[in-house]
Amino acid sequence: MEKIAVYPGSFDPITNGHVDIIERGLNIFDSIIVAVLENPKKRPLFSTEERVIMIQDLFKDNDNVRITSFRGLLINFMKHNKADIVIRGLRAISDFEYEFQMALMNRKLNPEIETFFMMPNLKYTFISSNLVKEVSSLGGCLEGLVPKEVEKQMLEKHKFSGKNKSQDKE
Ligand code: ADP
Repeated sequence: MEKIAVYPGSFDPITNGHVDIIERGLNIFDSIIVAVLENPKKRPLFSTEERVIMIQDLFKDNDNVRITSFRGLLINFMKHNKADIVIRGLRAISDFEYEFQMALMNRKLNPEIETFFMMPNLKYTFISSNLVKEVSSLGGCLEGLVPKEVEKQMLEKHKFSGKNKSQDKE
């Protein structure tokens, strides 16, 4: 039977840490659905559509990675896609508490759902989308933190919103 795993997240934006987890996941599962959360409560830097397209571009040569968005309960999305494995990334102890709660809540909502935790390469363990956004908005270099194309799009975003402090006059 085909093993399909779902990797849900905000991916605002996708970082090298996320990419590393997807690549590792592909060594274990037949296919991965990257599920971009559409959360009306958050104000993301990139729209859901922009995030989906960015990830689609990165994995355009890999038929085993499908990218889509979802809203509402993850367990409903999983049922709809006939998947019962959730992949989540663990960077440090600080991730653990929230992830542990989420995994057990999903199991409570649907006992057939199994959460699979993966650790990225050590060099990506300090990367978070939020920090990347902050560094980028202050004009810091994103090399090694996000894929090249994402870096380009972040620069565009900040230029457009006039947020890139490196361009501010003293
Ligand atoms: P969420 O808002 O659901 O936490 P994120 O896009 O921040 O969405 O993260 C999605 C998943 O990827 C989470 O399980 C998170 O712990 C994991 N993750 C985020 N950054 C990294 C990273 N640098 N390395 C490994 N996993 C990561």
